[in-house]
Amino acid sequence: MTGWIAVAGLSPGNEALVTPEVRAALDDATDVVGYIPYVARIAPREGLTLHASDNRVELDRANLALSMAAGGRRVVIVSSGDPGVFAMASALFEAFEALGAPAIDIRVLPGITAMLAAAARAGAPLGHDFCAINLSDNLKPWALVERRIRLAAEADFAMAFYNPRSASRPHQFARTLEVLLQVCGPERLITFARAVTTPDEHIKTVTMAEALPEMADMRTVVLVGNSATRRTGRWVYTPRRAD
Ligand code: SAH
Repeated sequence: MTGWIAVAGLSPGNEALVTPEVRAALDDATDVVGYIPYVARIAPREGLTLHASDNRVELDRANLALSMAAGGRRVVIVSSGDPGVFAMASALFEAFEALGAPAIDIRVLPGITAMLAAAARAGAPLGHDFCAINLSDNLKPWALVERRIRLAAEADFAMAFYNPRSASRPHQFARTLEVLLQVCGPERLITFARAVTTPDEHIKTVTMAEALPEMADMRTVVLVGNSATRRTGRWVYTPRRAD
């Protein structure tokens, strides 16, 4: 039996946004590896073993997948959204590199990342140049996060912020809003998109002056417009042109 690994994204929530390619890999798999809430989204079936693990053990998870694939198992590593966006694909390659790049069949299957699902709900806030920043400082110093926010805002990028606010670091998102208010001014539009494409979905667009840290949590992706981002009807969009 030839083993393989597929690193797959399960969409931000809605089953309809899981790609047919990911579904086919799951149908073919012998093992699914991932963070507990993502593995919980996989329907159990005979012949499929589910390996759910806690948060922050990405490398253990990647090593488990690599050793199972080397032993002939067909393994899907699951993330939410897209597996390459602040998720398991990089962790897998980190473990793979540390093992000296063994001959294992690896595929990365793209998925719909949270910022794109959120942008679609709001209209087209990412319709011009934009960037994505992970606000968690688990794997990088906060000073670097803050520098990137400031420079991206000064360069007039629209921005998407992942992992905006958790109970263990409540002050950093407040600081993020301070920097944005300073650089972008009080009229800039900011969209809080929570639990997008799930039954708990809640989307709210306010001005920077109205934005409060409590409007974000770990299930929220935050979209900040550029200086031309505007409302039209119930939509928010960023024009395709800039002067
Ligand atoms: N790989 C994932 C991102 C993982 S980081 C992706 O591509 O979407 C986890 C962060 O993603 C969360 O803190 C939140 O900012 C965002 N996120 C994930 N699912 C979301 C959803 N359904 N609605 C809003 N934000 C979401």
